[in-house]
This record gives sequence, structure tokens and C-alpha cells, in this order.
Amino acid sequence: MGEKIYIFDTTLRDGEQSPGATMNIEEKKRLARQLDRLGVDVIEAGFPAASDGDFEAVREICKVVENAQVAALARASNGDIDRAWESIKGAKYPRIHTFIATSDIHMQHKLGMSREEVIAAVKRSVSRARSYVHNVEFSAEDASRSEWDFLVQVVETAIEAGATTINIPDTVGYAQPQEFADLIRYLKKNVKNIDNAVLSVHCHNDLGLATANTLAAIRAGARQVEVTLCGIGERAGNAALEEVVMALYVRNSYYNVETNIKKELIYPTCRLLSMIIGMPIPAYKAIIGGNAFAHEAGIHQHGVLKNRLTYEIMTPESIGRPPSELVIGKHSGRHAIQQQLEQLGYRLTKEQLDIIFQAVKGLADKKAQIFLEDLEALVLEEIYRIPDKYKLKYLCSVSGNMAIPTATLKIQVDDQEEQISEFGVGPVDAVFNAISKLVGKQPKLLKFSVNAITGGTDAQGEVTVKIEEGGKTAIGRGSDPDIIVASAKAYINALNRLARKEEEKIWARV
Ligand SMILES: [Zn+2]
Repeated sequence: MGEKIYIFDTTLRDGEQSPGATMNIEEKKRLARQLDRLGVDVIEAGFPAASDGDFEAVREICKVVENAQVAALARASNGDIDRAWESIKGAKYPRIHTFIATSDIHMQHKLGMSREEVIAAVKRSVSRARSYVHNVEFSAEDASRSEWDFLVQVVETAIEAGATTINIPDTVGYAQPQEFADLIRYLKKNVKNIDNAVLSVHCHNDLGLATANTLAAIRAGARQVEVTLCGIGERAGNAALEEVVMALYVRNSYYNVETNIKKELIYPTCRLLSMIIGMPIPAYKAIIGGNAFAHEAGIHQHGVLKNRLTYEIMTPESIGRPPSELVIGKHSGRHAIQQQLEQLGYRLTKEQLDIIFQAVKGLADKKAQIFLEDLEALVLEEIYRIPDKYKLKYLCSVSGNMAIPTATLKIQVDDQEEQISEFGVGPVDAVFNAISKLVGKQPKLLKFSVNAITGGTDAQGEVTVKIEEGGKTAIGRGSDPDIIVASAKAYINALNRLARKEEEKIWARV
């Protein structure tokens, strides 16, 4: 057994800062539960000082997490730290994560503070956090652009004040792998008390190097890595959990370290995030993308392959990815469905299983073959989707080259049902016009895309829309064998996201 690498997941904090990826409290709780099952060591639940909504979300997340530590982010001020503690004190294993910028450019132009003042703030804030809890993480924001000897001084001060984890973020995604590894080695060599804390890294992907920098830092001695599912996060995102974990696993003899991650839950967990935030996983995405194991579908398969290892460095099963084979028939029993779901990593309650069983029967009436992907889409659609302000109850659409495209629909707005009919230049346009009119909003449609979940003309369609209103954007997603219905679901999903984005908040850029 190699040394342990602590996986710190910040999907709920940094990931949520990804444009259009905001989640409501129920969605955050759902994801937190799944991250806990996945086996991450720390879940960064949010930045409580950002808004009342964030504070509440962190408090609620603490109630559902059983094994992982729960961290709350705080700037280096008394107010932020007190608020962070207030939000996480109910967690089983709470952690306060406080930060301040240490690069000259940030200290001068953002903080307006001298080096001495920053050192004093580090001491004050870490001590205050320590007065609440022993588990304290300190981050030197923009560490990769900080002067190394000053950084040594900052880290030493933070550990002296009681920080148990020291995080070195590449906040702006500027570092190069060899250089970043050198910085980690430099800190390990020059910070006198470095052995009293776990050294952590947090890398951004602006130059496409987040995963590379993270892995280089591990080789240099970092023992905690801050990552997000699917690599979501501000701008180009963070290091992706699945990439870092699978690199450590596939190249175990090279890294000789271990993580606590249950690999077979990686794929279902990433899919769950994708569904919650309404952003599809790109086909070319490493590890989890649709094409990542494309050779499975036959490219190299024409009798040439005697040994899978010829082209495969890992199997789809190892990350819990379902093989695309026919599994569910019209007459499949409840038990068979439950078994398939468990293989995918979904453990449903009896009530939830009833809902899925009915949905499978409904789908089987429309579609001859039901694939595992369909089953998964149903779970995401029926169980993991949180109904918000607007809910589609009924839709009838008429189109064709001899008809004026018309949509008639009924939507539940809060507790009231309302119906309407509208025309459009095509069926989707008619549906969107009707929905817009009914909810009294005219957002601009920035993007509309349709994907088939599986092959075949009776495949379920997965529609993604991106809308904008008053400078705010939101992404929505919906799936259904009827792409007009899928479009309506996606549009309503986006409107729901837009409706809950009213709250103003401050972003923390670590
Ligand atoms: Zn970040």
C-alpha cells in the first residue's frame, strides 16, 4: 500500500461557480450524498459568507454527509470565519477553509495590503478558525504567482497558527507541471514546520494543465488534491476528479499512492452532476465521455483483438460505466431493474423503485428496446430532477408541411395549473413560444442541441438549451423519446434555473 492521497472535492463550491451551473439546496444535498458514497475525503460545501442561500445550503449539506469531512470557505476576516463556523458546526467532521492572496499583483491591486499586513491577517484568521475547530485549512490564493520565499513565510505562519492543511492553488491556471512540482518541493524543503500539515494543491485548467499540474504536485509530495467532478469550475474549470483518480489508479506503479475513491461510482456520479446542472458530458471528455471507450463499440474489434489490453488501459466497468447492451425488456421484472440500477450505483428506496418501474413500463410502450442508458436517463429524470417553480403536465404538438406548427400545453406554476396554445415557425418554436407566454418571460435562446441517448430512430432524445435574460444565463436539459417533449422539459428546466438565480452573491476565487 502506498501513501494516501486525500481527495478534496470542490464541485459544490468552485464547481458551482462555473457559469450556468448553480444548484438549489435539494440538488446540492443529493450530490453531497453521492460524493460521500463515492468516498471523497473532504466535501467543500460552499462559501457561507457569499449569500444567505449559500449559508443555508452548507448547513443542510452537513446534515446528510456521514463519512466525509465538510469544509466551508471563508476569506481571512472574522465575519467570514464566524459565519463559516456557524454553517458547519453541525457536521460530523467540520473543517474551516480560510484564504488570502499572497502574490504581489493580488496584494497590491486587490487587497491593497503590504506583505506584513498579509502575514498578520494569516495569523489572525487561522487562529480564529482554530479557536472553533482543530481541522483548519489555509489557502494562499494565487500561490503559483507568489514570490517563493514570501510564500514560505506565509505557510510557516499559517502552520504555526494551527493550520492542519496548507493549500497551494494555481488560482489563474498559470503554472507549468515541472515548475509547479518544483514549488511544492521548495516548500517541503524550506518551510520548517511543513511536516505538521498536509500539503494540498488546487489547479485550474486555463492552459489545459490542471490535471497535469495536480499529478506533478503529487509526485513532488502533495498529499491532498482539490478537484471537481467532470472538471467543472470557474472559467476553464478545475482538475477533474475522474482524471486524477484514474491516472493514480492506472499508473499505480508509477505514483505508488492510494485514494479512498470507489472507482465504480465515478461514472454514475459524474452523470448525476451532468443531469443536475444540465450540462452534457462532451463526447471527447477523458474517462467519462461518450467516445472514451469507443473501441468497445467495434472500431478495433473485427477479430483483430485477441487481448483487450492491446488498446485498453482501463475498462469501462472499472468506472461503473454500463456496457451498451440490451438489458431491459417490456416484461422485465422489478427485481431485474433493481439489479441493473444497483450495478449502475443507484440505490433507490422502494417508493423510488416504484416510480422507475412505472416509467420503464411507460417507455417500453413507446420504444422496443430499453438500454441501460435509457434506464439511467429515467432515474435522472424521475428521481434526481427536483421539481421547481414550473412543471410540465401536458403537451400536444402539431407540425408537418401542411400544418401551422401549434403547441398546446399545460404547466403547473407553483401550485396552479395553467394552459395555453401557441403557433411557431416549427414545433419547437411553437412549444417555446407557448411556454414563454405562459410564464411571462422572453429569454433569448443562446443554444439548442439534440442528442440521441442510444442508437436507433426510437432512441430517447436528450435536449440541452441555454437561455439568457437580463445578463443571466441558465442551462436546461430534458430527455424523452419524443424530442418535442424533451425540448419542452429542457426549456422549463432552464427557466427554473433562471428563476432561482435571482439571489446576488459574492464569488470567492481561490
Ligand atoms: Zn478555484
